[in-house]
Amino acid sequence: MNPQRGPERLIRLGQWVVTLLFAYFLIQVGASLIADLPLLSRQPQPDDFLDRAVIERLQQEIRPTEARMERIRSQLSAVQAELQAADQSYARARTSFENWRAARSTTEQADQNPAVLQRAAELDRQLKRQDDIQERLGSLQQQEAGFRLAIQPQQEQISELRTQADQRYQRARQWAELRAFLIRLLFVLPVLALALWQFRLYRTSDQWPFVWGFLLFALFAFFFELVPYLPSSFGSYIRYGIGALLTYLGGRALIQALRSYAARKQAELEASQEERRLQIRYEQAMQALGRHQCPSCERALPKLAPEVLSYCSYCGLNLAMECPRCKLRHTTFFPYCPSCGLEAEQAAAVATGNAGTPPLDLPTP
Ligand SMILES: [Zn+2]
Ligand SMILES: [Zn+2]
Repeated sequence: MNPQRGPERLIRLGQWVVTLLFAYFLIQVGASLIADLPLLSRQPQPDDFLDRAVIERLQQEIRPTEARMERIRSQLSAVQAELQAADQSYARARTSFENWRAARSTTEQADQNPAVLQRAAELDRQLKRQDDIQERLGSLQQQEAGFRLAIQPQQEQISELRTQADQRYQRARQWAELRAFLIRLLFVLPVLALALWQFRLYRTSDQWPFVWGFLLFALFAFFFELVPYLPSSFGSYIRYGIGALLTYLGGRALIQALRSYAARKQAELEASQEERRLQIRYEQAMQALGRHQCPSCERALPKLAPEVLSYCSYCGLNLAMECPRCKLRHTTFFPYCPSCGLEAEQAAAVATGNAGTPPLDLPTP
């Protein structure tokens, strides 16, 4: 209940360092332990669910046809290139012929000229060649379509097998995810329960650095080893459901804290001035008064000069007194009078013994 002395502050700092180190090492141990659990390390693979023998057999069946199709495809692309070249060549020859004939007709007007006939025949030959190429192209395309039709049943079978395998794989992955979460839950939940129970009972004992360190470890395990592994493939309702549950529990804890705070304040108000003064720690009282707050009801004090301000205007807590021995006016929370050294308890006994009334009627000098 005394203000902290220098070495005490250092020791307290050291205790916090112990707390953090303890939590850090526990977190490392916990993380390595979970990482080494054999059930968590093996994830299902898509290939595990494929009937590879059947697929292999089907692929063997269609392989020769596929090879032939491949050859036809390369022929097709060669013929297509040939056709394109022929098209361009014909278009060029035709333009050149038209130009030549136009120039000739203005000078000689002789369409039955053998030179004209020769060039027209050349154009016809080119057209004929285009037709031939077109025909070869058609026949290749027909062959390819025939092969494609021939291997269609096997290909459909293969893709059906793959779809089924994928469905089985997805189901297995969901279960693996759920199982991993449950295993983590089995590990984290007891740790968290133990930490909270210890915290409730022993957080103010002299073992507090370990209690706090263990709690930090449990919270870390909960938020980093459990929450990120909430199963997601079962739909978001599990994730959000657990979120809603945690928010509810947190909210209830807050309401509980508010209620117990109100009850504590009520009990404080019902106690006598002397009991109230003793319940408030000296340090706490000095901090509250420094913030110009009542140390008991924690409301703002009226802005009055320190010589006048003797009571909290909300809860009536006695804030200042006059030393019965030396008459120095000082705060009621000093354990000893700063001027004459009278102990606070003696001073209170004198005050109540003299007056026999509440300290509102302090004895006047
Ligand atoms: Zn007050
Ligand atoms: Zn005094």
